[in-house]
Amino acid sequence: METFEIKTAGRSEFVEITDRVQAAVEKAGVRSGCAVVYVPHTTAGLTINEHADPDVISDIQTALDRLVPWDGSYRHSEGNAAAHIKSAMLGHSVTIPIENGRLVLGTWQGIFFAEFDGPRRRKVIVQVSGS
Ligand code: ZN
Repeated sequence: METFEIKTAGRSEFVEITDRVQAAVEKAGVRSGCAVVYVPHTTAGLTINEHADPDVISDIQTALDRLVPWDGSYRHSEGNAAAHIKSAMLGHSVTIPIENGRLVLGTWQGIFFAEFDGPRRRKVIVQVSGS
């Protein structure tokens, strides 16, 4: 199991982590199998989406903000209910097949860590299985 840290700078921020996940696969020496990428946080998430045009990520962030505004009639007393809801919407893990020692991703796909209640220090866990 590999763990790396991300330091986010804003309240909402998507950070591409594809290279770091690929590095974890290489460190594990697995040629064929899968990588589970996981975040142990309740106000962050993970998604795989387009990394060629940064406007796509920007549109996703804008749409999530529109769907789940920061200020709303929430019960959670900590004041960050919107971050918990967005985290629940994206989910906490992605699984990617590995072939020939490489993550099997589409040309336009990248793996993104999604911060919803930053700035914070966050952990990403990569569990690589296979042979
Ligand atoms: Zn909270």
